[in-house]
Amino acid sequence: MTLDLVVTNLNTRDAPAPVAIGIAGGRIAAIEREIVCDAPVIDAGGRLGLPGFVDTHVHLDKACLLGRCGHAHGDLKAAIATVARLKADFTEEDVLARAGRCLDRAIAHGTTRMRTHVEVDPRAGLRSFRALKRARSDYAWGIDLELCVFPQEGLTNDPGCEELLVAALEEGADVLGGCPYTDTDPIAQLDRLFELAADYDVALDLHLDFDLDASTGHLEDVCRRTEAFGRGGRVAVGHVTKLSAMTPSAFERAAARLAGAGVALTALPATDLYLMGRDRFADRPRGVTPAHELARRGVTASIATNNVQNPFTPFGDLSLMRMANLYANVAQVGPDGFDACLDLVTDGPARLMNLDDYGLRVGAAADLVVLDAADAGEAFADIAAPLWGLKRGRRSFERPRAALNPPDA
Ligand SMILES: [Zn+2]
Repeated sequence: MTLDLVVTNLNTRDAPAPVAIGIAGGRIAAIEREIVCDAPVIDAGGRLGLPGFVDTHVHLDKACLLGRCGHAHGDLKAAIATVARLKADFTEEDVLARAGRCLDRAIAHGTTRMRTHVEVDPRAGLRSFRALKRARSDYAWGIDLELCVFPQEGLTNDPGCEELLVAALEEGADVLGGCPYTDTDPIAQLDRLFELAADYDVALDLHLDFDLDASTGHLEDVCRRTEAFGRGGRVAVGHVTKLSAMTPSAFERAAARLAGAGVALTALPATDLYLMGRDRFADRPRGVTPAHELARRGVTASIATNNVQNPFTPFGDLSLMRMANLYANVAQVGPDGFDACLDLVTDGPARLMNLDDYGLRVGAAADLVVLDAADAGEAFADIAAPLWGLKRGRRSFERPRAALNPPDA
């Protein structure tokens, strides 16, 4: 076997001792205790390697808008209204430049796969979508980008929106999104989206709900349609903050329903924390759906970045290690749950996106991020820095360790 590259002395989450990974043609060709050959070698120094972080939910088209907002930051409605005004002026070059800033950071934080949501409607037209199509090919060297087109401001109440979504699907959108909570007829939107997803044979990824009233909701409507259309395993819901406000028994029923129907879930801790509970002065609810508890009950679950430096979330660095740590703090996860939290930014989202070439195993894409830690527990507690990474066997980034400079003794 001819290898292009060998990574030695690499700790993984699966193997009890360091392994060597042999790479050929951008894929993992061998994983052994030792590999002896003439290929170039990178010594991982006994550090932890992961197959890259997977971000299932990022709004690249409306990222990095802070400088141009000029308004007081408010609630969800205010954020949607502000971006609705701004996006009419988005150009392809503008979207591409802001998306590029995000993708640079995501790659440097070890993310190798991403699903981006992109607004397609009469204000944005197809400009943001076409810009992100360019980003998808411009950045293919460092990250696989999946484009999910969606109607942020409603579908049935927005004449011309559906035609644009269909045009985007015709032009190569990977996934169809939705946002029933901003539609005047949420059920009609769900019906139409499930029909379109079946017609174009694409996955569905819905912004399902974004409030704390657990007495109503559309989770059951989504599960029922997922079964009726035979789309189990290809439907995901995002936010679903109502799940954070349920009684234990209602939560158990919802988890069983999601797992049974094959509906996956993404929690977006930064935005959920920033926008909700603003009517309260004290004792603000956390409002973040306990994704690791859903995963424990058999639901495919992930946590993701969502918004970056815009009216929905005025900060963000695209680091999923940091996001997982934020989540663990909010969800009060101790060391016995660190592994489960790491799953929420690696294996869980890879399953949500049906990435069949993901993982540190023979035959998978040679995607790798090496963290400045020996094992998963240390990496998670330390919010370990990514040191370098590979995308399809090629070095995609490196971040030298900080060097301290004490005075001479
Ligand atoms: Zn979102």
